[in-house]
This record gives sequence, C-alpha cells and structure tokens, in this order.
Amino acid sequence: MNVFLLLAHPERRSFNGAMFDSAVETLSAAGHAVVTSDLYRMGFDPVSGRRNFTSVCDADYLKLQSEEVHATEVDGFAPEIEEEIVKVESADLMIWQFPLWWFALPAILKGWVDRVFAMGRTYGGGRVYETGRFSGKRALLSLTTGGPEAAYRKDGFNGDLGAILRPIQRGILNFTGFAVLAPQVVWGPARADDTQRAAWLADWDRRLGAIENESPIDVGRY
Ligand SMILES: Cc1cc2nc3c(=O)[nH]c(=O)nc-3n(C[C@H](O)[C@H](O)[C@H](O)COP(=O)(O)OP(=O)(O)OC[C@H]3O[C@@H](n4cnc5c(N)ncnc54)[C@H](O)[C@@H]3O)c2cc1C
Repeated sequence: MNVFLLLAHPERRSFNGAMFDSAVETLSAAGHAVVTSDLYRMGFDPVSGRRNFTSVCDADYLKLQSEEVHATEVDGFAPEIEEEIVKVESADLMIWQFPLWWFALPAILKGWVDRVFAMGRTYGGGRVYETGRFSGKRALLSLTTGGPEAAYRKDGFNGDLGAILRPIQRGILNFTGFAVLAPQVVWGPARADDTQRAAWLADWDRRLGAIENESPIDVGRY
C-alpha cells in the first residue's frame, strides 16, 4: 500500500513522535511505500487565505471555496498545498498521529485540513460520503489523551470518545469518502511508566503489521 503518515506534535521526542517513528519503521519494513508530513518540523502554516493559491478568481472578495474550485480548474494551488493534496490523493491509507487537544485536533492539523481539503479537488459537485473523491481509501486516527480510558466512556467524566471524534471521522474523513478504521488510542501516556509505554508501542506495531486486512468501522451519525 501507499501509506501517508502525518504527525502533529510540537515536541519531536514526545510519545506521539515515538508512535509516528514506530509506524514509519513498521510499515516500511512490511514493504509499504510510506510518505510523511511532520507538520511542526515543516513549519506548516495552518492559517487559510489567499496564500493557498497562485491563481485568483475574485480579487475583490475572498470566498475560499470559490477560489478552491477555480484553483482546481486552473491548477492554481500554492506548491505547499499542492504537495499535500497529492500525498492524500496517492495514499491507500492515511494515518494522523496527534494528541487530543480540547476534545479536538491540534490547530496545526485542523488548519492543514482547512487548507488542503479544498472544494473541487477533494470534495464537492455531489461527490461526498459514499461517492466522495477519496472513496476506496482508508484513514485512521492515532491519538493520545491526557485522561484515562474510564473518563472517555459514554457515562464517564468526559463522555464517549466516539462522539468526540465524530466531527473528524464523520465530518472530514467519511465526508470526503474515506472509510475509517478504528482509532488507535493511547490513554494518558504521560501518567504511565516506560514498560507500559513500550507495550503500547508494541501493540501499535502488531496492529500495523496486519493493517491491510482490517475492515472499516461505522463512526456513527448525528
Ligand atoms: C492545548 C492542550 C489541550 C489538551 N486537551 C486535552 C483534552 O481535551 N483531553 C485530554 O484527555 N487531554 C488533553 N490534553 C492533554 C494531551 O492530550 C496529552 O498531554 C497528550 O496526549 C500526551 O501525549 P504526548 O505525546 O504529548 O506525551 P508526552 O508527555 O510527550 O510523552 C509522555 C512520556 O512518554 C515518553 N516517551 C517518549 N518516547 C518514548 C518511547 N519511545 N518509549 C517510551 N516512552 C517514551 C516521554 O519522554 C514522556 O515521558 C491537552 C493538552 C494540551 C497541551
């Protein structure tokens, strides 16, 4: 498979960094072609605007989706956006590695989605959900939390993690056609000891070793 792995963590030596490195190593060793985006080390600018484009549809009034459709027609995406779109388009499997921040994606990753998942090129024209442009591809969220697993059950302190992830898994990934694999969740790595953390990394490696055989999950609807 072609696998696209994305990392969104400001500290390269973090547990997220270790999960990312482990995935690159395991998937490459299994014979998959791996491409990566390490957003902080790339200095990726998450703020959407005219900088997304080399083309201009309306210089007087900025409507991002109109500019995106126009850029799709005239090949007018800025090189750093074009490069990221091509990584997504080329992937059979896309994995996002990130810490849960405020029940959501870190802003650098949300901004990457805002800029890279452009109308016309990645969705629209009736092509969403089952007929989405990325149908046939799979995506997986690999995340860490601060809180323990019990806090993220339906009746837990914070509530159901599935519901917390739904805007991402349903609103971004399913919307653009991706089938979603079960999230890989490491609960509170900062509270654990090295033995536990090594076991979590080994679990991740084991899962990735057979990832091509996994079936997608139903991420639920609103
Ligand atoms: C802005 C913000 C918002 C947040 N919102 C939420 C929220 O909504 N819900 C929630 O639950 N939490 C929240 N958190 C907490 C956050 O999710 C956790 O701090 C984060 O997920 C922990 O992962 P990490 O990679 O940052 O851990 P780190 O603290 O970087 O790593 C944990 C430990 O693993 C060690 N480690 C690194 N590599 C290895 C290795 N190879 N083997 C073994 N050990 C290793 C590190 O040295 C460190 O001791 C928030 C945090 C921030 C900053």
